[in-house]
Amino acid sequence: MTDKVITRFAPSPTGFLHIGNARTALFNWALAKSMGGEMLLRIEDTDRERSTDEAIAAIISGMDWLGLDYAGDPIYQSKNIDRHTEVALQLLAEGKAYKCYATPEELTEMREKAKAEGRPMVYDRRWRDRPEGDAPVGAPYVVRVKAPTEGQIVVHDKVQGDVTFKAENLDDFVILRSDGTPTYLLAVVVDDHDMGVTHIMRGDDHLVNSARQITIYNSMGWDIPVMAHTPLIHGPDGAKLSKRHGALGVEDYRRMGYLPETIRNYFARLGWAHGDDEIFSSDQFVEWFSFAGLNKGASRIDFAKLENMNAHY
Ligand code: GLU
Repeated sequence: MTDKVITRFAPSPTGFLHIGNARTALFNWALAKSMGGEMLLRIEDTDRERSTDEAIAAIISGMDWLGLDYAGDPIYQSKNIDRHTEVALQLLAEGKAYKCYATPEELTEMREKAKAEGRPMVYDRRWRDRPEGDAPVGAPYVVRVKAPTEGQIVVHDKVQGDVTFKAENLDDFVILRSDGTPTYLLAVVVDDHDMGVTHIMRGDDHLVNSARQITIYNSMGWDIPVMAHTPLIHGPDGAKLSKRHGALGVEDYRRMGYLPETIRNYFARLGWAHGDDEIFSSDQFVEWFSFAGLNKGASRIDFAKLENMNAHY
């Protein structure tokens, strides 16, 4: 074990490089550099239908354009599927996961019941403690991990502080689908562990995933990395940034003639502050970066300000 800080940027290559994702990369890069560590790039390409070579190329060239270097070559998550499966089977063998034979009809029923009661769908764990002999021969099953049934799961978040989830709202989630493929929730934990990731920084839309993934870390007896969930970027009207607001892709800004320095500076500043400093160099950003400077709330993009900043460079 080394104490070296290792962060990662883990985009799914299903489209262009979104500016919000690029900012996640920027923060991970700064965090790693500020602590004398390194960032890894992991392309999460396990969804074969939605992942494209063009999207992979856009991620790599966008990172390059922004000057966000990473250690070694990009790591392709799809190459690690056997390892993800191995961990799922280990959890199964150790009784920390189980085969669930609930049929689609049963799951629909659970979903409808939850809807009628105005609560989120939670799998009712009906296969958790059933004896092997009950398993219908040859029927399809998924593998679910045994999550805590009571109490709380706490995500110690470097931005929001401790974020608490009630165990009863987080069910025994699927780690292997009925076709035997590992799920995102499992793959990310296995990869982060195997890659020696010490710090996970990602959008706060992943907070509930983190609460679930903590169960896998605990079940495997693995150390939980430091976690930080950054608020998303919103449009000028305060709604989640979307196409109707304007440019979303790093490539769009590049095409419009923005300089990489502007994009780095503006988007870093949008979610992070160092006193009143608005203009800073990459070196200063790295030197000053700390979790404490990250905003707790979503920040609104201001296109006029972005343009002004470009004029500065
Ligand atoms: N691949 C995921 C995404 O693009 C991110 C996974 C992660 O950062 O853990 O949203």
